[in-house]
Parts: sequence; structure tokens; C-alpha cells
Amino acid sequence: MSGFFGVAAKQDCVFDLFFGIDYHSHLGTRRGGIAVYGERGFDRSIHNIENSPFRTKFDKEIQEMSGTLGIGCISDYEPQPLMVRSHHGTYALTTISKINNIDELTTILFEHGHSHFLEMSGGDINATELVAALINQKENLIEGIQYALDMVDGSLSILLMTSAGIYAARDKHGRTPVVIGRKADAFCASFENFAYKNLGYTDYKELGPGEIVILTDKNCITLVHPGEEMKICTFLWVYYGYPSSSYEGLSVEQMRYNCGAKMAKRDHVKPDIVAGVPDSGIAHAIGYANESGIPFSRPFIKYTPTWPRSFMPTIQSQRNLIAKMKLIALEDLIRDKSLLLIDDSIVRGTQLRETTEFLYESGAKEVHIRPACPPLLYGCKYLNFSRSSSEMDLITRRVIDRLEHGKVQDDILKEYANPESEKYEHMVEEIRKELNFTTLRFNRLDDMLDAVGIDKCKLCTYCWDGRE
Ligand code: SF4
Repeated sequence: MSGFFGVAAKQDCVFDLFFGIDYHSHLGTRRGGIAVYGERGFDRSIHNIENSPFRTKFDKEIQEMSGTLGIGCISDYEPQPLMVRSHHGTYALTTISKINNIDELTTILFEHGHSHFLEMSGGDINATELVAALINQKENLIEGIQYALDMVDGSLSILLMTSAGIYAARDKHGRTPVVIGRKADAFCASFENFAYKNLGYTDYKELGPGEIVILTDKNCITLVHPGEEMKICTFLWVYYGYPSSSYEGLSVEQMRYNCGAKMAKRDHVKPDIVAGVPDSGIAHAIGYANESGIPFSRPFIKYTPTWPRSFMPTIQSQRNLIAKMKLIALEDLIRDKSLLLIDDSIVRGTQLRETTEFLYESGAKEVHIRPACPPLLYGCKYLNFSRSSSEMDLITRRVIDRLEHGKVQDDILKEYANPESEKYEHMVEEIRKELNFTTLRFNRLDDMLDAVGIDKCKLCTYCWDGRE
């Protein structure tokens, strides 16, 4: 994922911009960037944030920056914001995107006279540069932004800053949010709505799918009205949204309580304690404990002082080791106890198996696992989602592949998605055995969607049921 933030203000906006971007640090681990526009024109800076937080990389630099307009990002992949000079004039651009049809789009652009793209290390094209090239195909910025939103297969949201203001555009299916905040003499645009609350802004509006607005210090004007069809990512609430955020009017924390309560209502085991895998599992576990009356406790604690963010090496075995090192077991709370443990989801299963082993080694009698979402059967094709790089990384797909002797068709996968089917039960039992849990019960899709509570046809559920 990635996150972005932008401000249009009467006075200097750098302070707001710096903290507004910083509040998106949970959404990316690779690059941080800021671009401002003021009396001295455009100024821009990008840093690698893989091993140190955004704030420490920019806190000196921003003392030198000034401007009344600014945009910035925490990017999980490409360096951005980019500064672009085109027939539209100069603009700064930052995006949240996953572009599945990069090859097709580059071919179209080359056919229309675009001469080249700079390659990043690794040979990929910078997706934000590709979006700039699409925007530059049209006569004016509004048509250009609309064209880019239409042409991208995957998802795309945009902040684009000119000397006149900041254009904010939400993905055409609204997979990720864009919200607008307001205070006296300033407007801001943000992925997370909590990012501007401590800066004195209040909620102004949430952009609808495909909506484009322009922000100045005085106004937020809609340039393109929202479309009808919405498919916001349900995983935002389950896992990667920050607990203090809310989307479409529903708080992430509240949704997790609802999810936990739904799971408790269907459950029959009687463990001694309910616990959550930090961080996102905690709120689901609180919901479960409150509904069931079984005490909530924290049998392992995340060591936060020197792990303020995830340093994530690219090698999977090292990632697992680091995930483990961050958790410290409290043996007194574990020994001779039957534990029910809630995690947001099971992706590969490696970390949860190791956590379970570690609980047994610390004296746990039983470890019952309750993922807060249904089995993940399809890799996400809409968001740049670092947790799963290929569908065969998913433990469900490996188990199904084994059970079906390598012959997995889409209609068979649909059967595995049905919690009433024998195939589903068989798959869950195989996963339970492989990961050595006492019992395993996934949350159901209908319960999870009820926990969100908004119109179900507005929610993306592709990774669980393959519905586009
Ligand atoms: S496929 Fe899953 S992770 Fe991807 S957008 Fe849809 S709900 Fe979110």
C-alpha cells in the first residue's frame, strides 16, 4: 500500500504537511516524499525510509522548506512525488496505485509519441511517471486525470499540485479512500481521516468513486462528480487501516469489535483466555471477549521502543525472524492455559505456526486459532499489497492444490469459498493440522460484511470469493 496527504493553505503549510504525511507511516516502508509550492516556486525532496522513520529523514529539511501548497506520500514502492514539466505547465504528482496493464499502457503511449520512460533499479517503470504520461495525453488536467483513472486496470488515486491548487482524485471504484478536511483558511486531502484531526482540521467530505476536486485555501470544488459503482477494499477495516481511522463512516476499531463479536456468537469452545496477535488482532479479540464473557489478556507483548516501524528485509525467512523477535511471551499468562488467539487473517501461515509453537513451548495447553476474515483464496489484483506476492504463497491455495492433485479450476475454488461445503471443511482441517492448532475456525464472509455494516455491494470481497 501507500498513503498520501496534501494541504492548500493561506499561511505556510509545511508543518501540517509534515505531520499529515507522517500519520500515514503504517501504509508503506520504502520511500517518503514531500513537494511544496510557494514564493520560491516548487521544492521537492524524497528519501529512502526503509530503515528509519519518515520524521527522522525530513525533520531538518523541512526547516528550509516553505509554501502554501504541498503534497507528499509514504510510498511502498516507487520514489514520489514526481515533478513534471508538460504542456499543462509544471506540476507535482503523487499516486496510490496498482497498475496491472503497464505494458499495454506503455505501448499505447509510445504509439502516441511518448519517447521514453526512466527505469527504476530492477527494470520497472515508475508507476507515477506512467500516470503523468497518461495525464499529459489530454488537453487539460481534468480530462487528463480522468483519462488516467479510466485507463488503469487495478487502482489509482491521485494528488496533483499546480501553482493554482491541488487536484485530488479517488480511484474509479473507490478501492482506497480519499478524504477532505477543512479548517480556517486551509483544506487538506488525505488517505486516512485521523491524519488531520490533531492538526485542527475537521471532516469536510469523503470523495466518491472517480470524483475529482480541486483544493485551494478557500474552497474544495468538485470538477468531476462521483460515479455509481463502488468497491472499497474490505481488508482496510480487517487489517491494514489504522485503528483510529474510519472509512465510509465506519470506524476501523469498531468494525474489529463487531467482527470479534460475530465470531464469538458462532463459537463453542471454552478457552481460559482470549488474546489477539498484535496489532490488528487485538481489537478483534476485545470484541470476541466482550461478547463471550471470556477474559481478554495479552500473553505476548510487542516490543515497541526499538521497533517503532517494521524493518522488513526482503528474504522471507528473515522477515519471519523479525516478526518473532518483536513479540515477547509472558509465560505466567500462558502456562497450563487454554488460549483462543485471533489474528486478522492467515496468509502463508508461517508466522502463526511459529507463534503457536512458541505458545506451546511456553506451556500453553491448547491454542485455538480464529482468523478475523475468511480463508484468502485469491491474490489481490487491485492494491499493491506487500503481504502476498503470488497466489501460491497462500496456504489455502497450497492446501487446495494438494487436495485437488494440482487440478484447480475456478468453479472448484468457488466451492472452497463456501463455508457450508465439505470441501471448505476439508481445507480448514488440513490447514489446522499443518499449522498444529488445537482448533481452527475462520470468520464467515457474511458475518464479516455484516460487521462492516455498509451496503455489501459497495465492498470488494475478491480475495475471499473471487467476485470482481
Ligand atoms: S481483493 Fe481483497 S485486499 Fe484487494 S482490494 Fe479487494 S478486498 Fe482489498
